[in-house]
Amino acid sequence: MRAMLQAEAVPLDLIGGPHAPRDRFHRLVMSPSVSVLSQAIAECRRHIRFAAGFSALVNLLYIVPTLYMLQVYERVVPTGGLQTLAFLTLVLLFGLSTLSLLDRIRSRLLVRGGVRLDCLLSPAVLEAAIARPRSAEARQALRDFDTVRNALSGPAALAVLDIPWLPIYLIVCFIMHPAIGAMALFGGIALPFIAWLNERTVRSGLSEVRNAAFRSQQEQNAAIDGAEVLRALGMQRNFVARALKRRDAMLTMQASTGFLNGDFVTATKFLRLALQSLALGAGAWLAVERQISPGAIFASSFLIARALSPVEQVIGNWKTVADARKAWRDLGRLFDDLTSDASRTTLPAPQGRVELEAVFVLDPAHSRVIVQNVSLSVEPGQILAIMGPSGAGKSTLARCVANALLPDRGSIRFDGSNIRDWDAETLGRHIGYLPQTPTLFEGTIAENIARFAGETDSDQAKLDEMVIAAARRVFAHELILQLPGGYQYGIAQGGLGLSAGQSQRIALARAVFGAPTVLVLDEPNAHLDTEGDQRLMELLAGLKRQRRTVIIVTHKLTVMPVVDRIAVMKEGQLAMLGSRDEVLAKIARPLPATLPPVPERQEAGS
Ligand code: ATP
Repeated sequence: MRAMLQAEAVPLDLIGGPHAPRDRFHRLVMSPSVSVLSQAIAECRRHIRFAAGFSALVNLLYIVPTLYMLQVYERVVPTGGLQTLAFLTLVLLFGLSTLSLLDRIRSRLLVRGGVRLDCLLSPAVLEAAIARPRSAEARQALRDFDTVRNALSGPAALAVLDIPWLPIYLIVCFIMHPAIGAMALFGGIALPFIAWLNERTVRSGLSEVRNAAFRSQQEQNAAIDGAEVLRALGMQRNFVARALKRRDAMLTMQASTGFLNGDFVTATKFLRLALQSLALGAGAWLAVERQISPGAIFASSFLIARALSPVEQVIGNWKTVADARKAWRDLGRLFDDLTSDASRTTLPAPQGRVELEAVFVLDPAHSRVIVQNVSLSVEPGQILAIMGPSGAGKSTLARCVANALLPDRGSIRFDGSNIRDWDAETLGRHIGYLPQTPTLFEGTIAENIARFAGETDSDQAKLDEMVIAAARRVFAHELILQLPGGYQYGIAQGGLGLSAGQSQRIALARAVFGAPTVLVLDEPNAHLDTEGDQRLMELLAGLKRQRRTVIIVTHKLTVMPVVDRIAVMKEGQLAMLGSRDEVLAKIARPLPATLPPVPERQEAGS
């Protein structure tokens, strides 16, 4: 009865009420000193504490059937007291229904705890993953988080909560008879030992399987994404063969780890069944010797089975527990970096002076320098063109200025403040960036141009106005109106549904959305026709009049009339930097008066 009263005392929000609003989490992220994960766990502690409390009651109530059995053998069978049997059965049914109720509440508490953890942490996990797109942990982060959440709400967590009650069963076994207690104690030591051995043996195998599965999955996704090219170039079979090789390697690893794990599970089952049966035998022997009652024969077997069941369950769910532990550690690593990023001062809006001091960028593997010792500055109202051959490092440098990529060494300053001291989200509002690949997202054209601001800003009318202004600014308004649904035209992930030129124009509108102070445009004229080139010039001239700072990566000379300075990159280094006319005079080679003759085609063997 007390258990039932206690069940009613559980706050409704822990088991069935509405879950916490997602915004609460942002407060967790912003706290600089305490780890985000510890804060989230602290917030869910109430759920876990209540679930642990219910585990205590559930485990106590599991003894009820044993007591029933003992009473039936000791009071009902010898005396034939059917009234006593009826009463005992009523008590048993009451105990079992309370047990079921508490077990249900316990499961619900864990599920709600998982949901709460999701509400608190998933925004941060997403933010952390997006903030570090190049890190392997970031890519795995959301999957890791789901692993932790599922483990918290599943049977593995229930088993872990049951484990601390093993001593209670041991004590009851010892009370029944020391020999029965000794058998239970042996099982209580031997089974965890097997579990420990299992973990030691399969740990590295499990981690390899996890990595191999991830790689294989990535390759399959890449093949599906690039299916058109594979089909057009007749590469399908080659690709399938390559994917199958990886898959086979992964399956072989998975099978051998699975076999090994299976051996341990079998050993565990054998030991538990053997102990249960031996307990029956020992009970019978002790009953013959009149050391225990006949009822205790079955009761001891039942108690041993019950005591060892959570241990067996933890071993059975060991992969879930190990995966969750690793996922938790990986998430911790991801958030350690995020926590140090969070302590930022709010800086005033930049005026547009951009300075690069000895900027170095390495490739993701840190094996090669992509940008080397680049120093330059651009003033508000200036247009700097970055030119140079393919692979010279122009886009990489542009990505650094746009804060899409942090340099490995050196600094980038906006109005004298280091880019690292800015909150990326705030600085992003002052930057207009057109990447080399437009990178549009699933959503309408209006949402893409507005940088999805509608998700956090409720003033839709103002946003619509700004979207149209941005589109007009880059001369994309008419182009958008021609599409079915106009600004509401739906773009699929990766910009599918638009031509390359259309995508670039919409990405350009997104770059100028909100009138940013600094614009970084990576080959904005790559897909433009002659009229588009002219329009781009008008846009650049307008930006210059408004004293915006523009950095434009280009291979074409058509924008030169509005450019002030040119930086020429070569093999990652700044080969030339100066005023437009100076640099053009050095790099422009006059066209030959007549084209060189085309050599006559030589026939093979002639
Ligand atoms: P293009 O004019 O062809 O666009 P670019 O001058 O813009 O070329 P970047 O895209 O900056 O050149 O690339 C510079 C160098 O960095 C190249 O040699 C490229 O191989 C290397 N690089 C760029 N991104 C990566 C990456 N993610 N991993 C490894 N190397 C990279």
